[in-house]
Amino acid sequence: MKWRDGAPREYYSKYEKVSIENHQGWFDVYRLPGDVFAICEPQHFQEVNAYLILGRERSLLLDTGMGICDIKAVVSELYQGEIMVVNSHFHFDHIGDNYKFDEVYIYDDPFARAIAQNGLPKEGLGNQLDEDMFLFDCPKSFEPEQFKISPYKTRLIQDGYRFDLGNRSLEVIHTPGHSNDSIMLYDENYKILFTGDTFYLGALYAHFDCDEFGKSNVEDYYRTMNGLLERCSDIKALYCSHNDFIADPIKITETALAFKRILCSCPDTEKETQAGHTYLEDGAKLKEYGFNGFSIIVKEYIVNFISKGEIL
Ligand SMILES: [Zn+2]
Repeated sequence: MKWRDGAPREYYSKYEKVSIENHQGWFDVYRLPGDVFAICEPQHFQEVNAYLILGRERSLLLDTGMGICDIKAVVSELYQGEIMVVNSHFHFDHIGDNYKFDEVYIYDDPFARAIAQNGLPKEGLGNQLDEDMFLFDCPKSFEPEQFKISPYKTRLIQDGYRFDLGNRSLEVIHTPGHSNDSIMLYDENYKILFTGDTFYLGALYAHFDCDEFGKSNVEDYYRTMNGLLERCSDIKALYCSHNDFIADPIKITETALAFKRILCSCPDTEKETQAGHTYLEDGAKLKEYGFNGFSIIVKEYIVNFISKGEIL
């Protein structure tokens, strides 16, 4: 399986690893600049990252991981004060342990509200609990057959909402594209942009179209990245929700240009799409295009529209 090549990843060696008792053989924790802990799950294909952003009066947990092991035990070991839990978006790999917290701040979107209300059976994860999605065997405490995303209580937020942590505040930026409810959080004090799944160094998904993942929108994605350009000169670092934690803000510009290239001309950087990326879709109907340090997956029909000149 290709995704396992190079695991464990070299990039983790750039960061200060924090020794924790409640790792459960599953979580790793790193201390990042700006009073942030990254809590990652490097043994699953998703290589997802949650962030505990520390404030003087309260702290913010951005996403709750896959729910394969207990992230709340990790968070409780790292921080004992008040915590606000926020979702970058509603996809399964970021909401697995939501139900363990009293309430979760989510962007006000119909797909996100439906998942919060109803949860998601394991079938809704497509191929993501298959054996070859795990680096090693599943953790002993985890039973894939019993897995489900449990419903959770929410508080709805909009673009421009601010989370006040005392000595720092985080602004919600609505960033539709990957999903309609995707948000980023911008920390003006430390000039950190938490990008969720809208940017990371890996395959960016712009192809979803189902109840479980909502609808991606390639044109919205382009507008989102383009709209972030004016903030770029202020931003010092991107903290990403998959793969390597920190990316250079120049990637915002590069991603905007990449989407423009996909929308305005036929991109010439087509790659073979890995099976792990296909979730519930037919992989043959997806196209993946490679760029500098990231790729973009779109539906084949988008590309057909481009060649027929029907999008722009
Ligand atoms: Zn994700």
